[in-house]
Amino acid sequence: MLGPPGAGKGTQAERLHEDFGLLHIATGDILRAEVAADTPLGTEARRYMDAGELVPDEVIVGMITQRISGGDARDGFLLDGFPRNERQADALAEALEQLERRLTAALLIEMPDEALVRRLTGRRMCVKNPTHIYHVEFDPPKHADVCDQDGARLVQRDDDREETIRHRLQVYHAQTEPLIDHYDHAGLLRRFDGNRNANEVHAHIRATVATLRLEEEL
Ligand code: AMP
Repeated sequence: MLGPPGAGKGTQAERLHEDFGLLHIATGDILRAEVAADTPLGTEARRYMDAGELVPDEVIVGMITQRISGGDARDGFLLDGFPRNERQADALAEALEQLERRLTAALLIEMPDEALVRRLTGRRMCVKNPTHIYHVEFDPPKHADVCDQDGARLVQRDDDREETIRHRLQVYHAQTEPLIDHYDHAGLLRRFDGNRNANEVHAHIRATVATLRLEEEL
């Protein structure tokens, strides 16, 4: 999954996980779990995350290579938040080659910066499960600051403050956006309009993935 922060990659990946049973590998979620567990990796990663910077490639690449080699990734997986620059894309290509596997598609969710800032500043996340996500304006929980699904507290991610968001968007444009051309040239790119509501985006992506699956099986 490709796209700027806040375009809905996590939400859509979670739905595709339910539709197709694909393992959902979200680098941001893995890193936040490390931070919450106070591991050495978490302590190192946090400095970069809070500043809206990318965590060093060595840390991320090792983490992903290990995840995609696992047995639970055998029937397919969705990468959400990775790769985020050319070096990571090259490392992914190398890891896939060693596993004798290949990418089926790069699913790009597009959205303009101003809409993303509005979306991200209002985002709230469940402290127990990071895939339970709400928005104070567009998708509010029934009770303020309480998760509808498990009753846990809702919090704002440290990196969802406006200043940090603006910086994350700059990092996206400078480092991640070049990957759009990279995957377009490889014939793998599929574009989706992130301005539409989550159900519509989901319907489009699901139809695309279903078609790709069918083609793979033929
Ligand atoms: P996300 O939840 O995908 O927006 O990621 C939150 C933060 O985790 C990012 O702003 C980065 O600091 C870090 N991060 C997540 N994925 C990567 C990656 N592939 N490479 C480097 N840093 C990452």
